[in-house]
Amino acid sequence: MLNIILMGPPGAGKGTQAVTIADEFGIPHISTGDMFREAMANKTELGLKAKAIVESGGLVPDDLTIELVKERLSRPDCANGYLLDGFPRTIPQAEALAKIGPEIDRAVNLVVNFDCPSDVLVSRIAGRRVCPKCGASYHIVNMKPKVEGVCDRCGGDLIQRKDDNADSFKVRLDNYYKQTQPLLDYYQGSGLLHSFDGTTNPKLLHDQVADLLKAHR
Ligand code: AMP
Repeated sequence: MLNIILMGPPGAGKGTQAVTIADEFGIPHISTGDMFREAMANKTELGLKAKAIVESGGLVPDDLTIELVKERLSRPDCANGYLLDGFPRTIPQAEALAKIGPEIDRAVNLVVNFDCPSDVLVSRIAGRRVCPKCGASYHIVNMKPKVEGVCDRCGGDLIQRKDDNADSFKVRLDNYYKQTQPLLDYYQGSGLLHSFDGTTNPKLLHDQVADLLKAHR
């Protein structure tokens, strides 16, 4: 069973790897960031609450985020595994997941972390373009789509995320180091953590992660 958490700072490659890994292993890709952006686009109650926080790079309150993930993980498509991307991001979120997972028979059994130095993250985020339809990520220099501005995977129009500007990114990176990085120690103790070099070329990194997952399937 592959009940996986993907971890790493913004720009480390979580989204890029998540899309291909989820396709290849046939498990749902659950990105809390995508869920918030979708709620914002649909102007739901959650979306309206999250909008200003997400766009400025802050973290949505734990209670809202935990509730969202609990509901999503309870759906039948997660019965045979899942790939969490962007959750947990705080210790209380990790503690909530440690409680909810076993309760709904979906305990996490693998934590995949991508290490990446901050200078690399800055240039990746500045040039990042994403597909709002399928969640695929590109870069205007390092990972160009076949046709400029168009998603290779689904044909959607690529955009620059509102929070991929220098100010919001600084807040996000700061939050990562203060609130999320401590989770690595939390998971290290559980023996579930596997770290990879996030600067590795995406195809090679994919193969390394896929080998790990095959050994745990
Ligand atoms: P991401 O797409 O993972 O970079 O997430 C985009 C934004 O959504 C983050 O900067 C936060 O504002 C919000 N967000 C996503 N996941 C979480 C989470 N686990 N806890 C709090 N806020 C989150």
